[in-house]
Amino acid sequence: MSTQAPAPAASRIDEQDIRLLPKAEVHVHLEGTFALADILRLAKENGATLPGPAVTLFDVSTHDEFVMPEVTTGGTGQGVGVAGLSGFLRFLDWQCGLVRTAEQAARVAYAFAARQSASGIRYSDVIVNPTHWNAWRGRELDLMDALAAGLDEAEQDGLCSANIAYSLLRTQTATEADDIVADLAARRPRRVLALSVDGDEKASGRTGEKFRSAFRAAEAAGLRRTVHAGESSGPEGVWDAIEHLHAERIDHGVRAVEDDALMRRLIDDDIPLDLCPRSNITLGLYPDWASYPLARLLDAGVRVTLNTDDPAPLASTLDQDWAVAAAAFGLDRADLEHLAAESIRASFADDDLKRDLLDELAALTAPREVA
Ligand SMILES: [Zn+2]
Repeated sequence: MSTQAPAPAASRIDEQDIRLLPKAEVHVHLEGTFALADILRLAKENGATLPGPAVTLFDVSTHDEFVMPEVTTGGTGQGVGVAGLSGFLRFLDWQCGLVRTAEQAARVAYAFAARQSASGIRYSDVIVNPTHWNAWRGRELDLMDALAAGLDEAEQDGLCSANIAYSLLRTQTATEADDIVADLAARRPRRVLALSVDGDEKASGRTGEKFRSAFRAAEAAGLRRTVHAGESSGPEGVWDAIEHLHAERIDHGVRAVEDDALMRRLIDDDIPLDLCPRSNITLGLYPDWASYPLARLLDAGVRVTLNTDDPAPLASTLDQDWAVAAAAFGLDRADLEHLAAESIRASFADDDLKRDLLDELAALTAPREVA
């Protein structure tokens, strides 16, 4: 990778070229992809009152009900930044609470696939955390079925294929986690391929040990495993994810850069980091793109994918984020092709789809290499 100096603005890679690259996105939360128009429609269907003016709905910090007084997370003064992660999670609870019927759930899943396709994303592992969807409490697997129906329809219509990573919330108990995995293992809902855990590590402390039995049961049942760590926790969270939870991928994990032994372990065990620079910068983990340690991770040999996390409230798309990353980190076209290939390889897509997408990517790149 050419990661020494930022490229001049003139060499910024066009977003249309980025859209044309076959790629996967593996760290994106369904809860963070609702378009403003879709939220307003859901609110109207439910007769729900908006927490503030429609035009500033994603500016969580302006809505008193989402801002918690103890929040100390820094921010950029935009969007979710000032409210911090806790306020943002409360916003997700409100928004997802508007999805009350199977038809509405299928609709948001379909809209997600369409949104992904618009960025040239051909496959996604999408994270769904049912604790945000309060109308489905006790019926979480029915929610999974409804979402799968929307994803089925999207795939039939030629949109992005997607499978679900069912996410635990970090504040759930070990027993709750064990019960969820037992249900998943028994019913094997369609399109649920993986177990995940997300939520605020700063608020909950270390939770690796707590979820150990649930993740071991998931592994035994053939579920894949991806774990949020190394964002609101330091390197110790990533160690816990590897050692206690047998994570196959780390969502974020960027703070692994603070621990050389940990980077070595990620390389040795072939565990990619699912990075989301815009999300980390907006939430104040890093002050700007220039200080984001992508080059150090790549130069060390750590595998990475570049993702959006929660693109709707962050007012971004994957193609825009890749274009900004290319300019900020001095990535050229070959670097982006490498990232596209890594996104496909790191995904939980089936082997046939991976091979097709990688072949398609190789066909795009081959003529240029010959010339
Ligand atoms: Zn995330």
